[in-house]
Amino acid sequence: MNEDLIVYSIRKCVDYLTDESELTVLFQGGEALLEYDSIRKALDKLGHQPKIHYQMQTNGTLINEDTMNMFEKYNMHVSFSLDSHMESHNNLRSKKSDIFLQKIFNVCEMFQERNLDYGIISVVCKNNMDDLRSMFQEFIKRGIHTFAYNLLWPIGRAKSEGLNELVVPTTQLVDTMFDVYKDIYKFNIEQGYAPFKKIHERNLFMLWRRLFYRQLTNYMCMNAPCGAGINTLTVDTDGQVFPCALMLPPLEDGFQIGNIYTDSMSYLLQKDSLVKHRNLAQIPQCASCSYKAACAGGGCGIAYYHLKKDINAVSIYCDYYYEILSAMIEHAMLQMEVRILKNF
Ligand code: SF4
Ligand code: SF4
Repeated sequence: MNEDLIVYSIRKCVDYLTDESELTVLFQGGEALLEYDSIRKALDKLGHQPKIHYQMQTNGTLINEDTMNMFEKYNMHVSFSLDSHMESHNNLRSKKSDIFLQKIFNVCEMFQERNLDYGIISVVCKNNMDDLRSMFQEFIKRGIHTFAYNLLWPIGRAKSEGLNELVVPTTQLVDTMFDVYKDIYKFNIEQGYAPFKKIHERNLFMLWRRLFYRQLTNYMCMNAPCGAGINTLTVDTDGQVFPCALMLPPLEDGFQIGNIYTDSMSYLLQKDSLVKHRNLAQIPQCASCSYKAACAGGGCGIAYYHLKKDINAVSIYCDYYYEILSAMIEHAMLQMEVRILKNF
């Protein structure tokens, strides 16, 4: 990616900000660190930008002292994908059980030594389902406090590679994720913290806050319509603008809403787009669901559009969300030794 495009895009967004608003810039790929030189030069040109939060998603394999210096200098939050490492982990495990994702944990140590912000992302599928609880224990042991177990969307490359076979059946998914939920809850309480204060898995944490504290605006992907094209835009390497990275041409053509060089920010943010038409009132199952505020339709509308060519398609994880939210309520009642819930 051209460094001038990065500089131009960020300056254009910053110029559009009001006094109260801030900007989050996320670098993602492919592998974002393949563009390390362009990103570093661009950020150096932009200099200190107090209203910008930088983030990057990477598989971590290209991290070295230079990239660490850039993360530190620009206070960048970095998320590592664990999945590419899981493959080698699974290959290695049968031969040598004490090798557990050493590579990525070495990178985590580099972040811990510099006290930098980072987290781990893993996509939940049949291959790693049985590892989720032990991975959580390993995270604790290694001082890793923020991680995300994202549900697998069998779209794009995942679809062509037949990964829809790896979607975890609802009962197994609910049982395991609820076990993870209880593990996290218990760990935090035993350490003297509020339930998800010290260590948390992002998606369960967001659901928990939405369900019990009605914090409904905390994560743009858990809204319908979501934040795509409303408070987030994706700029591709050629300057074309899309509402979200999940609407880029490799998945489907036709979602471009403009060009960062030629269109104004207000035009881009006001441009109509399919993703803005996801509406729970148009999904009969969700419209009458008692969890619709907390669940907001069970994940990414565009992911389900790619599967069913209907922006108001029911989530493939609807049953999972219904069951896990019910389990969270039941768990809370047991914790409070309450048998009957009134006026919830
Ligand atoms: S399209 Fe999907 S991934 Fe993109 S912002 Fe919306 S919910 Fe999130
Ligand atoms: S649990 Fe299912 S029906 Fe209820 S809001 Fe979520 S996706 Fe819709």
